[in-house]
Amino acid sequence: MSSATLYLVIPCYNEQEVLPVTAPLFLNKLQELIAQGLCAGNSRILFVNDGSRDDTWRIIRELCAADEHFTGICLSRNRGHQNALLAGLMTARQSADVTISIDCDGQDDINAMDEMLRQFHDGCDVVYGVRSKRDTDTFFKRFTAESFYKLMKGLGVDSVYNHADYRLLSRRALDGLAQYREVNLFLRGMMPLVGFKSTSVYYERYERIAGESHYPLKKMLAFAFDGITSLSIKPIRLITALGLLISLAGFLAIIWAIVQAILGNVVAGWASTVCIVCFMGGIQLLCLGVIGEYVGKIYSEVKRRPRFIICESTDGSTPVKDN
Ligand code: UDP
Ligand code: MG
Repeated sequence: MSSATLYLVIPCYNEQEVLPVTAPLFLNKLQELIAQGLCAGNSRILFVNDGSRDDTWRIIRELCAADEHFTGICLSRNRGHQNALLAGLMTARQSADVTISIDCDGQDDINAMDEMLRQFHDGCDVVYGVRSKRDTDTFFKRFTAESFYKLMKGLGVDSVYNHADYRLLSRRALDGLAQYREVNLFLRGMMPLVGFKSTSVYYERYERIAGESHYPLKKMLAFAFDGITSLSIKPIRLITALGLLISLAGFLAIIWAIVQAILGNVVAGWASTVCIVCFMGGIQLLCLGVIGEYVGKIYSEVKRRPRFIICESTDGSTPVKDN
């Protein structure tokens, strides 16, 4: 029998269609894990209501009233998946020895939890849930996601291929994560920075059981861009390299023009000049934009606004504060 208290941390945003279906599945799974001795009897399922505008919070409260294994916290407004997840993890840290974060839409195979916990008992502090294949995704989603991982790697960010936010974290790993104060959160890229012994467990990802994805293309791209600029300053270095390269080309062009002038050939028309001016203007604006992105990041980091504010918890305990 294990005495490790497990908390399943589940962020929920407008999930009234899904929650009544998946909550009993999570409860079954938890009871199975307890029965197998993989976690303690006082383990819990912690729902984080991320400022839903539908009946999600009411459903969570009803679940909690019906079974003591359920518990829930409610954020003061919608803060997005990463912040909601962090709020849940920091709350769970108060009582849990180990947490597993998972989405509430039933896409991630809950049966991978057994293996995750076994790895934890074998001494791993971080266990990444990794998708074994991407059959259920459209070609487009698969292509964009895989290019993203490759790009991240190219930019020097250590992230686990095909891992989203289905992961096990020990109390030690949570304590480590708590020391990271950044406002621009990209948890899957931060865990490798936190360190500790880690491993991966493979699982198949299903279609969403009900409701709709909250990550349309625009949000997905923003999230990817955010991930890169939060974890890597390579884009700025690339700009420097680009600037050097273009300056060199410009220098060679000047020499060429002088040589032509000495040889008595008139340098041809203004068209080429205008082209170069436009090209350079474009490049400069692009570079300014990338640098501006980092300045914006610094702006939001120095303000150090709280990443989440918990306004209510179903067990009446004092909410955890960020900052
Ligand atoms: N989610 C959240 N806040 C948000 C958006 C999403 O807490 O602002 C939750 C959502 O309820 C789900 C998880 O984050 O449990 C992943 O979202 P979704 O399934 O829509 O993303 P996808 O799986 O399509 O990438
Ligand atoms: Mg999903």
